[in-house]
Amino acid sequence: MIELISTERCTGCNICVSICPTNVFDIVVSAGTKPPPVIARGADCQTCFMCELYCPEDALYVAPDADASVAVDESALTEAGVLGSYRSMIGWAPGTTAHRKVDSTFRLIKGF
Ligand code: SF4
Ligand code: SF4
Repeated sequence: MIELISTERCTGCNICVSICPTNVFDIVVSAGTKPPPVIARGADCQTCFMCELYCPEDALYVAPDADASVAVDESALTEAGVLGSYRSMIGWAPGTTAHRKVDSTFRLIKGF
C-alpha cells in the first residue's frame, strides 16, 4: 500500500497522479510553486507499484503489504536504499537498463 511521498525528493511533476489506476493521489495547487501531491485515498491503493516505477525522483514508497497500512520511516528507507530500488531492479532508472535482461517473466508469459 502506498505509504510515503518524500517532500524532500518530490518535484511536483504529478506523474504519479496521472499514472495511478485507482486515483489515489490529489494534485495540490499552489500559485508559483509545484508542491507534492497528497495521498488522498490511500485505502484505494492496489499495491501495483506503478507510481514507484514512474516517479522520476524515487520519491514514493509502496509497502508490499496490500491489506493494511504500515508505519514507515523515510530516513530508514533512504538509509537502506529502498527508495527507487524497485525501479532500479526493473531497469527503469537511469543507468540500470542492463537490469531489464534479468527479468525473465516474458518467458513465462510466452508459454501460455
Ligand atoms: S511522480 Fe514523484 S516527483 Fe512526481 S509528483 Fe509524484 S512523487 Fe512527486
Ligand atoms: S501502488 Fe498503484 S494503486 Fe497504489 S498508489 Fe501507486 S499507482 Fe496507485
